[in-house]
Amino acid sequence: ADTSSQDNAIRGTNDDAVTSKLSAVTTGYINDVFVKYFVKRPSKRPPIINRGSYVRNAGLDILITKFLEVGEGNLKKQIVSLGAGSDTRYFHFKITSRNFHKYFEIDFPEITSKKVAIIRRNNDLLDLIGTNMQIGKGGTEIYAPDYCLMSGDLRSWADNLVPRLKEHGFDQSIPTLFLSECVLIYMDPIDSNKIVQWVGDNMKLAMFIVFEQILPNDPFGSVMLQNLRAINIELRGIYAYPDLQSQKDRYLLRGWTHAEAVDINEIHDKHIDSKELFRISKLEFLDELEEWRLLAAHYCIAWAYSVKDALDESLFDN
Ligand code: SAM
Repeated sequence: ADTSSQDNAIRGTNDDAVTSKLSAVTTGYINDVFVKYFVKRPSKRPPIINRGSYVRNAGLDILITKFLEVGEGNLKKQIVSLGAGSDTRYFHFKITSRNFHKYFEIDFPEITSKKVAIIRRNNDLLDLIGTNMQIGKGGTEIYAPDYCLMSGDLRSWADNLVPRLKEHGFDQSIPTLFLSECVLIYMDPIDSNKIVQWVGDNMKLAMFIVFEQILPNDPFGSVMLQNLRAINIELRGIYAYPDLQSQKDRYLLRGWTHAEAVDINEIHDKHIDSKELFRISKLEFLDELEEWRLLAAHYCIAWAYSVKDALDESLFDN
């Protein structure tokens, strides 16, 4: 299939992602009052999918919170969400008083134009961005003091996106979190690694967090890939980074000093508070325990950062 029809299919994954998140919100797993604005036709997902969404979200939240708390609010921090789609984290962070200097989101114009339209229709969302907001590039971008929605192709990162991000306040000298939730995996690793390399080489202090699929070769993985292939989607990155070790090596081989990767089972078993596990266990009956374990083994969170001097060391020492 040609690139543009594949790109269309990849853009389609955003609807599925936000519909799944809404299902987890409606069932009581995740607290986020803004997701509903981004779903046209809500649909309930099976218990194992809801639980997966919960653990993914909780795991990412632990890491993002750590990043935001480093330096205890004395430092200005940025978040850059690569392939943000309909993600509502910016809005959720605002009402939960998370401390950040600026939140950037990037996606294809076909996706950002819809986001702009939804934001414009909902005062709840507009109020959080504030009155000092401008819309640009034919209704595909938003520029505001602590929020910037940018349209573009991540395959033209250094030549197109970086200069335009800089025009809108992106600052290479302040601590920055790069977040990619099910995005880099769809790209040719040559293209996604240009971003990883650029960030490692050009940011003073950066953290990278990726959530994506692993284990393409076992029976469960093969079915997962077959199902995606049937809708014209190829997880290009999964062959280059098929397991936790290769997910870490992706950064370590490019000069990053620290990298970790854990699967959803490990987050579920080791990093979620027992009160929370008890709470979610009562939301829905989960009888497919074995299937849940298999599913959870096929998703991972990998993160990396670089300690370049003693200040970084003191920031990241735990
Ligand atoms: N991160 C969001 C989330 O987790 O809800 C959306 C995930 S969705 C599965 C993947 C997103 O990545 C889509 O919105 C898609 O348009 C975007 N994407 C994939 N490749 C891209 C590229 N080359 N340039 C810009 N966006 C891209």
